[in-house]
Amino acid sequence: MKQSTKRRSSPTTEREFGGTLGASCIPVLLPLLVLFLLSVSRSPGASLLQWPPQLPPPSALWDPLAPLLLLGWFTLHAFLYLLPLGKVSEGLVLKNGTRLKYPINGFHALVISVGLQMLLLWLGFPLGSLFDLLLPLAVCATGLSFLLSFYLYISSFWAPPHALAPGGNTGNPLYDFFIGRELNPRIGNFDLKYFCELRPGLIGWVVVNLGMLMKEVELRDGASLAMLLVNGFQLLYVADALWNEEAVLTTMDIVHDGFGFMLAFGDLAWVPFAYSLQASFLVVHPVELGAAAATAIVLLNGIGYYIFRKSNSQKNVFRRDPKHPSVSSLETIATATGKRLLVSGWWGLVRHPNYLGDLLMALAWSLPCGFSHLLPYFYVGYFTVLLVHREARDERQCRAKYGQAWDAYCQRVPYRIFPYLY
Ligand code: NDP
Repeated sequence: MKQSTKRRSSPTTEREFGGTLGASCIPVLLPLLVLFLLSVSRSPGASLLQWPPQLPPPSALWDPLAPLLLLGWFTLHAFLYLLPLGKVSEGLVLKNGTRLKYPINGFHALVISVGLQMLLLWLGFPLGSLFDLLLPLAVCATGLSFLLSFYLYISSFWAPPHALAPGGNTGNPLYDFFIGRELNPRIGNFDLKYFCELRPGLIGWVVVNLGMLMKEVELRDGASLAMLLVNGFQLLYVADALWNEEAVLTTMDIVHDGFGFMLAFGDLAWVPFAYSLQASFLVVHPVELGAAAATAIVLLNGIGYYIFRKSNSQKNVFRRDPKHPSVSSLETIATATGKRLLVSGWWGLVRHPNYLGDLLMALAWSLPCGFSHLLPYFYVGYFTVLLVHREARDERQCRAKYGQAWDAYCQRVPYRIFPYLY
């Protein structure tokens, strides 16, 4: 009992991501890592282990077109966010008993963005030149993440106490800047965190991928099967996230984490430039994929997607309406908060079936790049570390929320992500 009380108080006092040391090093190291990965992906050897490491020359980091393109892209998405398209949904109840309203029009923004890209291609716009602009664009997106994070940190001192995030208010400026002090910073009705979470960066990832595909077409008079698979899989992932945009309102990022450098950089720089590595790798390192290998990879992505979508939807439906016919027959455990935990169905298989599906898809995105290099598998490795760490954070928060009921759930469902392994 004593032990469970101690564990229950930990999430508010414990510092995450390595505490102050992590919060000081990550904002320096991650932007450098993005530039390193991008320049390795286009180098002939594409070796992650080469020493001294492959670093871009300073002249490759700047192009006056990059800030203009980025500004135009953000303005377009801010405009699309404000368009009265789609429905308006309410977030979860906040500390002061109110709920914020969010426009659910991210899928419209994706369709309009893809339509505009098609128009630009039809007009002869050289989308393949994005390949040459990737490093300057990544530098500008990183600069923008820093500017935004400084604004968020300073403006949070004007926020009322109930609007602050549980973890980002330690009083240590470096740590709070990194984790984020305010939970839902807004300018009027414009929600900055929600906007950044699924729009300019995530849709930007699709644009970067298409740019890489067009560069391949320029270089080799056609797109390879490997490039088409990478583009198709990742477009499906982004379209799925935006089609199910409402589900983001109940995720840890929106409900629990403040908006600081961690999310700003992740959303605006890391996702579009580090997640598109496979496509930029394929521009310089073409891979001939046979029909049998392609079929197996499509199957793997399909299985991963099925597990990911079904498990996420099952939990979302259960949280929104536990009496819904699709979930009402599932076995559950009661908790002291009044909420129940699923112990059968997908959430009875492992404690994070959605992470399992996501990881299978991550592997399917790397396999089209073949086995000659390690670089395309960087995403699988990084994503495994991210999800194992995220699972541990979520586990701590759930144990604090649900106490003994969570322990009972862990006993019933002993594996976290991989059945019989972990
Ligand atoms: P999850 O969707 O996994 O949600 C975790 C929450 O679900 C818990 O805090 C708890 O919240 C609830 N929950 C846990 N177990 C149960 C249960 N047995 N029954 C009912 N509710 C339960 O959180 P994430 O935000 O981490 O992930 C969402 C999706 O986003 C995942 O598919 C993940 O793979 C993906 N993702 C992708 C990333 C990327 O970069 N591509 C990065 C991060 C995530 P409560 O009880 O309060 O409802």
